[in-house]
Amino acid sequence: MRLGRPITITDGVFQIRVLGARVTVLMQNGAAILVDAGLWGSQGLILNGLESLGLSREHLRMVVVTHAHPDHSGGLGGLVQETGISVGAHKLEADIIEGRVMPPSPLQSRLVGRITQPAFSKLMGAPVPVNERLEDGDVIPFGTEVRVVHMPGHTVGSIALHLPRKKTIIVGDALQYKLARRLTPPAPGVTLDPQMAMSSLEKLLDLEFDTICFSHFPPMRKGGALALRALLRQQSSEGCFAARGSAA
Ligand SMILES: [Zn+2]
Repeated sequence: MRLGRPITITDGVFQIRVLGARVTVLMQNGAAILVDAGLWGSQGLILNGLESLGLSREHLRMVVVTHAHPDHSGGLGGLVQETGISVGAHKLEADIIEGRVMPPSPLQSRLVGRITQPAFSKLMGAPVPVNERLEDGDVIPFGTEVRVVHMPGHTVGSIALHLPRKKTIIVGDALQYKLARRLTPPAPGVTLDPQMAMSSLEKLLDLEFDTICFSHFPPMRKGGALALRALLRQQSSEGCFAARGSAA
């Protein structure tokens, strides 16, 4: 997948690879919602990808960031400056994106985190206003239903987006899909609370989906819910966390 060149995930859902992440594009009746914005400096690649999809500034309704790590929200400043797009994020991430609080380093080692914090602050790019402070269960007004699922763990205000009519879920960094294409938990070295992240993944089992879109891996186009159930069962049997419905 080349930088700036969109791929189709399913009808009306695309991904564009930008600096440090993939931007997911939801398209409906000529309007578009973007999910995540990549690292600082990604706006040119995003706009190139959108152009390939026949989209220009006036089609853009909102960019929603799954969380405030710099490889997801660092590109917001440039994108907002170029397009004037409105920004949505979970209310617990909004103060970081607006520059009211210092972005914590995603690296969970305390020493490494402290050393790298200034670099991460730079990668966050310019602060932008968060127009929509999202919460669990919010439905983003758009042609197809886009529902917010609060997924604390990777960060406090991480979210997934569920598109029930597309049977698709966009999980940001809440899951990885590597090592011979197996679902795995979020990377512990950059996850605030790995156990809470696993508990949050259980919420997704109540939702109907087949396809999973990740921020750093190719999409899992089929069998997503089954694969997630298998992962949670395996993690629970290894004692990594207490799965819902299992004995305490
Ligand atoms: Zn992250």
